[in-house]
Amino acid sequence: MDEENRVKELKEKLAFAPKHASYVMDADGVAAADAFCEGYMSFLDEAKTEREAVKKAIELAKSNGFREYARGHFYGPGEKIYYNNRGKSVVLAVMGEVGLSEGARVVAAHIDSPRLDLKPTPLYEKDELACLKTHYYGGIKKYQWTAIPLALHGVIVRADGKTVEVRVGEEPGDPVFTITDLLPHLAGEQMGKTMSSGVTGEELNVLVGSRPFADTEEAENVKLNVLNILFEKYGMTEADFISAELELVPAFKAADVGFDRSMIGAYGQDDRVCAYPALMGVLDAEEPLHTTVCVLTDKEETGSMGNTGLDSDYLFAFIRALAKSEGLDPDETLSKSICLSADVNAAFDPDYASQFDHGNVCFLNRGVVLTKYTGARGKNSTNDASAETMGRVRRMLDEAGVCWQTGEIGRVDAGGGGTVARFVAGRNIDVVDLGVPLLSMHAPFEIVAKLDVYALYQACVEFYRS
Ligand code: MN
Ligand code: MN
Repeated sequence: MDEENRVKELKEKLAFAPKHASYVMDADGVAAADAFCEGYMSFLDEAKTEREAVKKAIELAKSNGFREYARGHFYGPGEKIYYNNRGKSVVLAVMGEVGLSEGARVVAAHIDSPRLDLKPTPLYEKDELACLKTHYYGGIKKYQWTAIPLALHGVIVRADGKTVEVRVGEEPGDPVFTITDLLPHLAGEQMGKTMSSGVTGEELNVLVGSRPFADTEEAENVKLNVLNILFEKYGMTEADFISAELELVPAFKAADVGFDRSMIGAYGQDDRVCAYPALMGVLDAEEPLHTTVCVLTDKEETGSMGNTGLDSDYLFAFIRALAKSEGLDPDETLSKSICLSADVNAAFDPDYASQFDHGNVCFLNRGVVLTKYTGARGKNSTNDASAETMGRVRRMLDEAGVCWQTGEIGRVDAGGGGTVARFVAGRNIDVVDLGVPLLSMHAPFEIVAKLDVYALYQACVEFYRS
């Protein structure tokens, strides 16, 4: 063997060098990834909000033999159940051969995404334009949300107690809404501001009408016309906005990105790019050894607070109740459980290279990213997965031939972020972040690579059966 080959061989043996997934997967694997992503893209278009994602997940679960969970009931091996938490988060489980005696295998992903929520009294008229005032949800760069088509999703609970669903701007022929921006010709002053102050929260007002109800001298006729349309369509009055949850999201659909169609661009891939593989994996789970649990949760983007977020007890109460029905000690069951916190990580962006540590960041197309810790300012507010947990998951990925890499969110002190991992860890469960690399995180149009999406599905399938 010549020297060159010896060096090459030694490098392959000793160095950690994740490769482009297309060098690792065979042609069938790449084709399977592309096919899997077609279903994913439909899911993105059909389920843009947490409520729609729960509805879709339950619809798929039912058609895959899942039944609604009844508290206190004993479920035997192979039984499939789902628990709908207030229509905004959902837990799916397939009972294991050994039940929960050795803990559960949990994958947790979130189905809420950054967006613009309507204020409680949102509708106003100014200079014959009717607009809706918003309060943004999650971390956004506000300027990115102007001058794009927006759709309105959510529910209104009317004074009569009836809940009405709203979804405008998604079907062909639907109207859309938008937030105006200042023309560049007059934007000298605005362009001199910082990017965080160029568009403020109080300027995120959504244009929804411009024609008056009637030709009278009455003030606010344009607003009245909008109210009248809303009354005719939903039977609602202005006060009903107070008991509504209405969310503005980008109106555009998921699309292939690139001449090679290797990527997907869409709204809200943080974190539906993990929620979908986690869901598909549990739907496919047949008679697993350990009880497998998939939770699609709400409220991650605002800190997991609230009873549909993972800082609440709903997931853990569900697992404890199952453990009790098996005659187990519920606390012990939790302590023996292991969880993949399936959330996105920031992919390396060569245009902003200085914000990353090139050797400790994930890249598009190198598979799932196993993230030991998140947080900010010295690992603050993070779950820092133990070496043992990292080792266990890493070994599982290697043995299953799943393409994986590791990475931190940005360089030290560049900023930071968090996931649901710390809330799961807070219940004495081993947990580590495993997700998909993402470009343009929290922008209205986020980018992932198809091979990475499929790698997460493979990882979830493997984990559920582990
Ligand atoms: Mn996320
Ligand atoms: Mn996020």
